[in-house]
Amino acid sequence: MAEAETRVVRTMCPMNCHPTLCGMQVTVQDGLVTRIEGDDDNPDSRGFLCMRGRSAGELLGNERRILYPMARVRRDRNAWERISWPEAMSRIAGSVASHPPEQFGIWMGHGDAATNYGTRSGGQLAKRFAHLYGSQWWHPAMICWGLGGFGLGITGVLEVNTKEDMSAHSDLVVLWGANIASQPNTARHLKLAKARGARVITIDVRDSEATARADLHLRIRPGSDAALALGIMHTLINEALIDRDFIDAHTLGFEQLASHVRQFDAGWASTHTGLDAEIIVSLAREYAATHRAMIVMGGSSMHKGANGWHGARAIACLPALTGKLGIPGGGLGERHGGTAHGFGLKDLSPIGASACTAIIPDQMSAMLDAFEAGKISTLMLNGTNMGSSFAETHRLERGFGKIEQIVCIDLFMNETIAQHADIVLPATAWLEQLGAKMTHTHLYLMEPALPPEGECRTFSEILRSLAAALDVQQFFPWDDDEHMLDQLFDHPATVHATIRRLREQGGKQALNVSRHGYPTHAFSTPSGKVEFFSERAGKMGLAALPVFTPPEESAQYPLQFRQGRTLTHFHGFYDHGAALPTMNKRRGKPTLWIAPVDAMHREIEDGGAVRIFNERGEFRATALVTTKIEAGTVWMRDGWAGLNRVTNGDACLPEAALGTFAFGVGQSLQDAQVDVRPVVESLT
Ligand code: SF4
Repeated sequence: MAEAETRVVRTMCPMNCHPTLCGMQVTVQDGLVTRIEGDDDNPDSRGFLCMRGRSAGELLGNERRILYPMARVRRDRNAWERISWPEAMSRIAGSVASHPPEQFGIWMGHGDAATNYGTRSGGQLAKRFAHLYGSQWWHPAMICWGLGGFGLGITGVLEVNTKEDMSAHSDLVVLWGANIASQPNTARHLKLAKARGARVITIDVRDSEATARADLHLRIRPGSDAALALGIMHTLINEALIDRDFIDAHTLGFEQLASHVRQFDAGWASTHTGLDAEIIVSLAREYAATHRAMIVMGGSSMHKGANGWHGARAIACLPALTGKLGIPGGGLGERHGGTAHGFGLKDLSPIGASACTAIIPDQMSAMLDAFEAGKISTLMLNGTNMGSSFAETHRLERGFGKIEQIVCIDLFMNETIAQHADIVLPATAWLEQLGAKMTHTHLYLMEPALPPEGECRTFSEILRSLAAALDVQQFFPWDDDEHMLDQLFDHPATVHATIRRLREQGGKQALNVSRHGYPTHAFSTPSGKVEFFSERAGKMGLAALPVFTPPEESAQYPLQFRQGRTLTHFHGFYDHGAALPTMNKRRGKPTLWIAPVDAMHREIEDGGAVRIFNERGEFRATALVTTKIEAGTVWMRDGWAGLNRVTNGDACLPEAALGTFAFGVGQSLQDAQVDVRPVVESLT
């Protein structure tokens, strides 16, 4: 008998923990994945793979995998028939072509990023297609880190110090709304920093996975981050704990800020955050006294809510007031969507304005309005379970009902596909296509190791065939994906890498970026300085100085509802992880954290079934009565189908703010005030 062919392929985990992604080694025997291990030689992860990465092999040979194009026979959950690729593409193109181009929209989820996180080639291609054809493309950051990015960018502090810089230099690390569940690879660097003597402080609305590693944990009220940062600013300025030389040389608007924060003393901050005033003062003093102090901000969850961007904006002022920007060990640490100094790629968008004559603003609420108004006739959803991730699910569902054709591209069915799609196209998995990921240290090659299962195709192939059917000229002027990626990499950050060179170098290229942000002190604002006072914000109708607005209180729905991430789930990926047997065992059931006093007043028992509800809708879960959360706040892991029935889809920012940065900032509020009651089962 012939000996089985065994190969070990070096690649990256297909998940999305940017910018702290992990390398993996995959053993392939006779066309099957037989082993997945961490890659000891990967400079970012050094052999680490969390349980999500270790379960990635279950993507392949999975009986739930979508293997063929399918079309819905009638509007019935399971009424699907297999169709051929030519038939699928002809139906899609036919429907798109029968309406004006602006009625076609593409929305991308993180699932698209399986082989291109940090390089975002799929997103670039979708944007290029929309630009040339005149259709809609919306930036996916609006569902994630974009709003926090807006707050940081308005102040001028978008660049980050890397995890390697943290372990080597930071003497104090403040994990502010950052849970290492979304960047587990940073945990090793946190440990190294602690071993060197660094102190770790966590700030969150609950006790998270990160809390256990902290020397001090501060539990604050949801949405009060801006109040805490303003209270800290008050102490810094009042007690002259600031770096006057740095402020004079590199900031704008200090005098206005100093006079503005006089009203926000620690007592004021205490009433809004729930922390003792002495603790706020002592936090400010410790932060100021530790020159190499790094704040690692949460990437996504902490920015959900009306105060989301205000928190990011106010926190970004702290390292500027104390002269901690542009130094090793200081600044702001890694966060989802953060950028290392010098990091970049070539933009594949064509030169000139988009051919779209009626652009729907890059904003969740505007998208919901447009869907409900019937302004979209074909919606293509790539790697996203939009029905579970968008706020105000019922509005989205109404909008879906007005769309003539919904096309989903994915690996597994999910409830958006099951309930709303008309055509589903089978997507390739990470080992079935050429890709590349970028962290803040390296560019990594991801070679195809297996042929696609069934009739699965890459997103690039799908867009190319749609472009050909719609006669979109110059959409793909490259010979193949390899040359497209070469073009994308043509940037000083990658030292102008090419796929061929990556192959010759064992699959990686060290990036030409700085380990600490802003080494040249050229900040991301119109003035080039850190802007405590922002004329740009004023012109958009926003406050020119950092502010805090207390969350609205509701007698009817008195609990603040918040969501977040844990180590054992993936947001909406892979049908919320349910498609992967290992993850499915660990994902559990929707569980609502509720404080004992809130549970007692509502006669809720630990482990009991509850309804979470407000004026928008309701969601059911199991109660976890826990002291790990403050009274008045309830919390749940995100990514449950139907959970966003209770969240708010109103806009956070005015339309004038949407084009401020290259990333999408059009997040909706996505928070909720709710009440919770036990589910009383009917006895009949
Ligand atoms: S930490 Fe993220 S990138 Fe690393 S193995 Fe886990 S899921 Fe994959």
